Amino acid sequence: MRIVIRFMHKYHVMKEKSGFNTRMVHAGSEDDQWGSAVVPIYQTSTFSFENAQHGADLFAGKRKGYIYTRIGNPTIHALEENIASLENGYGGIATASGMGAVSTIYLALLGQGAHMISTASVYGPSRSIMENHFSRFGVTSSYVNTSDIENIKKNIRPETKLLYLETPSNPTMELTDIKAAARLAHEHKLLVVVDNTFSSPYLQNPLDLGADAVLHSVTKFINGHADVVGGIIVTKTPELYNLIRPVMVGMGLNMDPHQAFLVHRGVKTLSLRVEKAQKSAMEIAQWLEQHPKVEWVKYPGLPSHPQHDLAKKQMKGFGTMISFELKGGYKAGEELMNHMQVALLAVSLGGVETLIQHPASMTHSGLPGKERLEAGITDGLVRYSVGIEDTQDLIADLQQALNQV
Ligand SMILES: *Cc1c(COP(=O)(O)O)cnc(C)c1O
Repeated sequence: MRIVIRFMHKYHVMKEKSGFNTRMVHAGSEDDQWGSAVVPIYQTSTFSFENAQHGADLFAGKRKGYIYTRIGNPTIHALEENIASLENGYGGIATASGMGAVSTIYLALLGQGAHMISTASVYGPSRSIMENHFSRFGVTSSYVNTSDIENIKKNIRPETKLLYLETPSNPTMELTDIKAAARLAHEHKLLVVVDNTFSSPYLQNPLDLGADAVLHSVTKFINGHADVVGGIIVTKTPELYNLIRPVMVGMGLNMDPHQAFLVHRGVKTLSLRVEKAQKSAMEIAQWLEQHPKVEWVKYPGLPSHPQHDLAKKQMKGFGTMISFELKGGYKAGEELMNHMQVALLAVSLGGVETLIQHPASMTHSGLPGKERLEAGITDGLVRYSVGIEDTQDLIADLQQALNQV
């Protein structure tokens, strides 16, 4: 005998009306049949059918249910529902990594002869897979400074299909006006996808500003605990969801149930983590701006940031990422790295632990000097991802390390 208990959490009833934090905690968890507070890890590759008709109906899409974990799984689905709700979208498509989400977007929306326009300072691998791999299949791309909408306009061709934005971009902290860019793109029938990793759904919702899809490396803020690599896409419409999802499934870019469980656990504290860290980030950015060994600081929350007004308009907060330039250049950058005690010397961002890195000697060391400078990676540039440690300890850490530079 099969025991089938249908249990509905009462949250179902008020789902549509609830605020960000309520959805952050509850969205996606409401369908568990036992009423468990947390959606368990359905660590299974396959799902049995009640009988031949049930199996046939599932394959034909006539009934909802699960067939095989690469296609769908309750633990993964719960996370997909959660992030789709936080991004005010139709549906989520979870992927093995952030790059899995980027690849799925390129594979689904571009093809032989198609052209893409993207932010010049986009996440490095998002650009290199396009230039090294997608180019082999006849896809072309232009990388422009999307902070100025004119640069997008000038590069639109008859074969342009996709505008792929990242804002704020990394590590130059430049912003793109999503609303204005999406309006222009839609006039020319382009789709607009935004990599929203740097802001998280708590600070920025690109779909509300006109984007057609948004993606995240959930490795960063959404999971937030530096213990999972993963990605997700959220589309605005069912049509786009139904176009993109089969590409992820077919290419085998799916997330794993155990990954999904951890990310779902992480997202429930997203707003608390971001609030705490961005409060520190503002204090640290102001402190750094006064420091005699610091040339300049780029943080969207500082009035000195060239797009401070756009940040105020487009984002609900200024985030936790700070870039700053040391007067001592490359050598000073290396020295600072060697003397940090609280901040971990590591790439990645958006976790509870503060991370620091020196792009010129680390993430961008592969670029020739001239190209590196053109991409805004100056010799003394430092990227700092603020975590949730005590603010005074983070400032003391920077103070003692800067003293030794
Ligand atoms: C980290 C990152 C990615 C790639 O994500 P992975 O999870 O490392 O594959 C994509 N975009 C941005 C902005 C990122 O920071």
